[in-house]
Amino acid sequence: MNVVVVGAGIAGLSCARELAQHGVQARVLERGRVVGGRLASKRYGDRYADIGAAYLVADDPDFAALAEAWRARGLARPWTDTLAVFPGDPSTGPMRWAAPGGLRSLAADLAEGLDVRLDSEVTAVPDDADAVVLAMPGPQALRLDPPAAVADAARRQVWQPVITAVLAYPERSWADFHGAFVNDHPVLATVCDDGDRRGDRAPVLVAHSTSAVAREHLSDPTAAGPLLAAATGELLGIPAQPEVHVHRWTYAQPAPGGGPYATDGRVWLAGDAFGKPRVQTAWLSGRAVARALLQSSER
Ligand SMILES: Cc1cc2nc3c(=O)[nH]c(=O)nc-3n(C[C@H](O)[C@H](O)[C@H](O)COP(=O)(O)OP(=O)(O)OC[C@H]3O[C@@H](n4cnc5c(N)ncnc54)[C@H](O)[C@@H]3O)c2cc1C
Repeated sequence: MNVVVVGAGIAGLSCARELAQHGVQARVLERGRVVGGRLASKRYGDRYADIGAAYLVADDPDFAALAEAWRARGLARPWTDTLAVFPGDPSTGPMRWAAPGGLRSLAADLAEGLDVRLDSEVTAVPDDADAVVLAMPGPQALRLDPPAAVADAARRQVWQPVITAVLAYPERSWADFHGAFVNDHPVLATVCDDGDRRGDRAPVLVAHSTSAVAREHLSDPTAAGPLLAAATGELLGIPAQPEVHVHRWTYAQPAPGGGPYATDGRVWLAGDAFGKPRVQTAWLSGRAVARALLQSSER
């Protein structure tokens, strides 16, 4: 079976990995220069900051087993089950997992040994494969003109943008809080302590904007940087001015959808829009496509 996976985010990598475990080596085509997609860590100076997903939640038994396997190898670690809420009391929920080397290191681990081709933007559904897996947000898949049922599923997805600001301070000057949900704020949706999350105690915070602020600044995301920095400083009482780096996610978070994938003939659509918008959902979606492909090839 000749399979092309388009997109080396967690969904595409999980799909290709499951296929490889059953003897099918898929070609993974990724337009970016690195794997991971929104499971993203970017290097600023001498350290990585997590600029996409803030953490993993692993409440599916198989994904939890993968998280444990990463933990055993020192790649992931349980971070916290308690996040601050502004305004309000801290909220305790599921364990959030982080990665000492940045969350993208987990995608890099999944990509190990796979046939991943970076800098390979796909502009139409490849016609030289028995199966093509579009492992990406629906609006990005629509640019490849997929067949009707996949296009319909992609169009039904509803996405919100986010602007991320990485705020590097001269020193740590805030009370420990791990990370925070910020409710009803005009600018901020979440703030995480990246030094706490990564475990190196670097004085770095990562702030995510509200979708409204992201929409206003999509064409000039840099202009949102000072807004996010000022709002974070005010929220946490930090007088120092940080160095600010900004990243725009046009398709950051989908509305929760039904799973686990869409398909039309030999074309499949996978990703985090098929469930709760989480890394775990993307991983499960990619694996579900691989399992369906393996089953169909046995018939
Ligand atoms: C700001 C932010 C905060 C988040 N916080 C959390 C969180 O705390 N916890 C959590 O679980 N999840 C979180 N998420 C969501 C999580 O990051 C996603 O659920 C998950 O990473 C999605 O993986 P994916 O493989 O479905 O898609 P993506 O990661 O988007 O991967 C798609 C890949 O396809 C590639 N691609 C697209 N078009 C083409 C093309 N034409 N040719 C080749 N390649 C292409 C892209 O470059 C990308 O690498 C967050 C996301 C963002 C942006």
